[in-house]
Amino acid sequence: MNNNDINILKEWINTSKKIVVFTGAGISVPSGIPDFRSANGIYNSEYDGLSPEEIISHSFFIKNPKMFYKFYFDKMIYLDARPNLAHEYFAKIGATIVTQNIDNLHTLAGSKTVYELHGNVYRNYCMKCHKFYDLKDLNTKEVPYCKCGGMIKPDVVLYEEGLDNDTIMGAIKAISEADMLIICGTSLRVYPAAGFINYYRGNKLVLLNKEKTPFDSSCNLAIYGDIVEIVKELMKK
Ligand code: ZN
Repeated sequence: MNNNDINILKEWINTSKKIVVFTGAGISVPSGIPDFRSANGIYNSEYDGLSPEEIISHSFFIKNPKMFYKFYFDKMIYLDARPNLAHEYFAKIGATIVTQNIDNLHTLAGSKTVYELHGNVYRNYCMKCHKFYDLKDLNTKEVPYCKCGGMIKPDVVLYEEGLDNDTIMGAIKAISEADMLIICGTSLRVYPAAGFINYYRGNKLVLLNKEKTPFDSSCNLAIYGDIVEIVKELMKK
């Protein structure tokens, strides 16, 4: 990260009226939430050699809810995680958030408009009567069931499932109207991120990420580094 790039970023933030921040797992790593995709191959014996993508799929959830919930509660739920400086900064500048994360940290940080493309672990519902349950209402040691007998499902988009239409439309509208788009903590390899970015029509497209991505040459500015460190530099300006 060089000082001149930080100056440009700061100037663009100060002069933009509609900022959208598109975030992925990388922004929550400093809050202690590892990217579950990096868990590949680590859980072989405990999870029958299955990959996280296989376990967090709709068909597996239906077929083996016991193992699904074991993985889900064990590897994807971090009740003690708190928003970090980056979540707080994007809330403070009033950016609209489009996120692939399901951890609720943007909302906890105070962001008012958050499009959660993949849902939110705090919301859960009965598959039979559709009653909603908060995460804290669930016993995280077993498969949760509703009083009516129906199985409770997290309001999270699993592999093989489609995204919520209203959320997609809201996110696309926000991105197409934005004068600045900041992509933060995602390699854009995960469906459907790259498709969303195509709706941006401005000339202040910024990438903030730990490492290079295939998308960088399309950006107007790319800064590599830990997101919290980048925000610390921004706040010094
Ligand atoms: Zn029910």
